[in-house]
Amino acid sequence: MDCHICNQSTESFIHEKTKITYYHCNPCEYIFKSSEFYQDLETQKERYNLHENNEEDAGYIAYFQRFLDFVLPLVGEPQNALDFGCGRTSLLATLLEKEGIACDYFDPIYHPNTLESDKKYDLIVSTEVFEHLHQPSVVFESLLQRLNKGGYLAIQTEFHSNGQESFQKWWYPQDSTHIVFFRAQTFTVLCEKYGCRCIANNGKNIIVMEKM
Ligand SMILES: [Zn+2]
Repeated sequence: MDCHICNQSTESFIHEKTKITYYHCNPCEYIFKSSEFYQDLETQKERYNLHENNEEDAGYIAYFQRFLDFVLPLVGEPQNALDFGCGRTSLLATLLEKEGIACDYFDPIYHPNTLESDKKYDLIVSTEVFEHLHQPSVVFESLLQRLNKGGYLAIQTEFHSNGQESFQKWWYPQDSTHIVFFRAQTFTVLCEKYGCRCIANNGKNIIVMEKM
């Protein structure tokens, strides 16, 4: 199986517990689940409906605040932003509005008709979305098209530790809707492909990129 990010050949391995096949790409450090285990949108929705995302919840607010504390010092003074894949609530957009940044939000399941076709943004944020994507490369490129030149894309997704043994014990793939797994190197390769550059990552789960 060739890598869906960089087209190099990958190494397959089987998860001992679930018997699911994954593919691991050495050059771009991308890991993806065999597509026969991908779920349709209805099944995914049942799973997402279990997420307890209460806008009043202090823990949920603190969770987004940690993301913004890392991202906002790196992105200048954006005039507007888009939260791509916001889920049921628009809490992150609300927090950005409080920072004085006009923010739109979009979610394919909960808020599917919120995007204007040719509107562009200074900042796009996407938290806990990319691990769900069947075609992350396509979505990455489409988000860049929505960015102004010099605009920023900030993504949060848990980075794997690049070992098949540690992957077996990792909690993140145990969510059946998590199908693709990244590291900073994966995003570096995506950046080279689509004309942007990584400006910072926290080594754990957040990366910030600038459109050239
Ligand atoms: Zn690759």
